[in-house]
Amino acid sequence: MDEILKNRFAAIVGDKNTITKDVSLSAFTQDMRGRYTGSAALALQPGNVDEVAAIMRLAQETGTPIIPQGGNTGLVGGGVPLQDGTGQEIILSLRRMNRILDVDPDTNTMTVEAGAVLQNLQDAADGADRLFPLSLGSQGSCQIGGNISSNAGGTAVLAYGNTRDLVMGLEAVLPNGDVWNGLSRLRKDNTGYDLKNLIIGAEGTLGVVTKAVVKLFPKPRGRAVAFVALGSPQKALALLNMAKGRLGNDLTAFEFMASIAMEFTIRHAATPTRAPIDGDHAWYVLVEVSSGKSEEDAHADMQTLLEQALEDEIIDDATLAGSIAQQNAFWQLREDMSHAQRPEGASIKHDISVPVGALPNFIKEADAAVAEIVPGARVVNFGHMGDGNLHYNISQPIGWNGETFFEYEPDINDAIYALIKKYDGSISAEHGIGQMKRDRLAAHKDPVALNMMRAIKAALDPKGIMNPGKVL
Ligand code: ZN
Repeated sequence: MDEILKNRFAAIVGDKNTITKDVSLSAFTQDMRGRYTGSAALALQPGNVDEVAAIMRLAQETGTPIIPQGGNTGLVGGGVPLQDGTGQEIILSLRRMNRILDVDPDTNTMTVEAGAVLQNLQDAADGADRLFPLSLGSQGSCQIGGNISSNAGGTAVLAYGNTRDLVMGLEAVLPNGDVWNGLSRLRKDNTGYDLKNLIIGAEGTLGVVTKAVVKLFPKPRGRAVAFVALGSPQKALALLNMAKGRLGNDLTAFEFMASIAMEFTIRHAATPTRAPIDGDHAWYVLVEVSSGKSEEDAHADMQTLLEQALEDEIIDDATLAGSIAQQNAFWQLREDMSHAQRPEGASIKHDISVPVGALPNFIKEADAAVAEIVPGARVVNFGHMGDGNLHYNISQPIGWNGETFFEYEPDINDAIYALIKKYDGSISAEHGIGQMKRDRLAAHKDPVALNMMRAIKAALDPKGIMNPGKVL
């Protein structure tokens, strides 16, 4: 990019909010996991929507590709330049636009700027005696704009839905620089196309999210957290349905994990810890029950659920956290699970979903397929069972080198995604498509749906400047 154009962009946000030097640009051009390392001409940090609009107008005029970026915690390379890109792209970082603008406990909404860190939204809701339920491992650094753009999931989807269900209104800047003010706080609004839901999950390919109105919920007055040991995914499914039937929306988490995931987590824990249940068990579930009444009420509900499940021989054993500290420790085990794979060597990861009822058969067939392709590969399967969403990860066999293991990645992926097709599942449950799964999407998505997506993209972004090479 020539210096004159760089200077025109820099003039919009000021020199101190323009990052040009290679060394400080790398924080914007590489993803968190280090899987994608691209290059960019500049990173710009606008301070308000007018500056974002001015950037987009200039980008439109000059055909400059723009990559919107939030906390850069994405897992599919959606917010960073293409690995084999031109280096002509501009990163548009929302990090300075990070204010909580309004908390309205009567309407149960909160209005925020896109760069606000998720944890700050949770805290602001809490301060108003409300709950903002979106909850993810990266909540201390991910931004709500990125959550919206990737339609993030996390551990509270079972009771509250994913990000799409938590957004009431949006403000977004379109590729031509127009500012769409859709900051609605209406529960009901039947006035044509649902534009907000076009932008949510579009991963920055249709526009830049600049503000959002999100939904708040009553804060639970008590919760109970238990670890359960059981013999098979089928039994876990039985427990899930029993819990849903008894507790409805008071069942706020149902996280499922293979024993090896627990084993890795214990082995690599930052501070020494032990499994919450003694003995050898094939599978574990972390169950969380919330109550709008009290701590005692949540505990009583959990207790009767577990007693019934033991009596019906659905579960083998269970332990109920006796304090908030222990509840947090139980959750910590679950949250450490993806990081605990790293010291075990190379891993091939999948963020997939199938209809909940199909999970047991899917797991059986996927495990068999992996064992056939790479005998000794260790399937580290855990996830949000209540949503049919598994992080179906596979660690290399003990003693292998990582590169050899990765030679089998295409075969393993083909086998897993063939099963996804068989069970009418999704190749991306909560992480998005980005650059990682773009080609897979083309192979998996219904052709008519793909054509609709391409038509929408062409209508809103005819020059193809919004996050090119992602999703489509
Ligand atoms: Zn997850």
